[in-house]
Amino acid sequence: MYPVLIVEDERAIADLIEMTLEDFGYVCVKAFDGEQAADFIEKEKFDLILLDVMLPGVDGFSLMEYIRPTETPVIFLTAKSSVEDRVRGLRAGAYDYIVKPFAPDELLARVDGLMRHTGRRSRTIRLWDVEINPDTRTVSKKGVPVSLTPREFDLLMALVLNRGIVLYRDVLFERVWGLDSEANTRTLDIHISRLRKKLGWEHQLRSVPKIGYLLEAER
Ligand code: CA
Repeated sequence: MYPVLIVEDERAIADLIEMTLEDFGYVCVKAFDGEQAADFIEKEKFDLILLDVMLPGVDGFSLMEYIRPTETPVIFLTAKSSVEDRVRGLRAGAYDYIVKPFAPDELLARVDGLMRHTGRRSRTIRLWDVEINPDTRTVSKKGVPVSLTPREFDLLMALVLNRGIVLYRDVLFERVWGLDSEANTRTLDIHISRLRKKLGWEHQLRSVPKIGYLLEAER
C-alpha cells in the first residue's frame, strides 16, 4: 500500500483533502505545484494521485503526460464551470474527476470506489480503540471482534461519516432504515444504546436533547 499524492496549489483545499483521507486511514503526500509533484512521482510510488487542473507552472494536463507511464490512477479536481476540463481530463486518461467545491463524503466515496476498483487495499477506520472495516463490515475493539447486526453497522457508518456533526433523529433514521420502513425512531434509539454498549462509547456517542445524536470528533 502506497500513499495518496495530492497535487493542489490551494493549501486550504489540499489540507481539507488530507484531513478527510487521513481520518479514514489513508496516508497522504502533498505537492503544491507541478514541478514538486513531478519530483515526487519520479522518486516514489503512489496508489492514487488527486490532481488539480489549474496549477501554477506545469498544469494538470501536462503533468498527466508525465504520470501516464507510471500507470498510477488519477482523479482530476476541476472547477464547477469547466465541462471542457473534465472531458479533456478523462480523455487524457484520468479515472474520474471531482468537481470543486466537494463534500468530504463525496471525496471519500470516489477515492474508496477507485481503491476497490483497482484492488489496491482494504481500508480500516480507527476511532479511539475501535477498528472498523467497511469492506468486510467487521468491527473490533482493542483487537476483539464486536458483533453488530447489519442495521447497527449501517448506523455506525452513518455516524462515523458525519462525526462532529449533530444528526437529526429523523435524518439518521431515514438514512439507515429508509423512507418506507415499518420501524420508527424508537427503533433508532434502541440501536443507538446497543451501539453505545457494544463499543463502549457511552461518552463519545451523545444524545442531543430534542435534536438527535452526535458522535464526537476524535480530535
Ligand atoms: Ca488550482
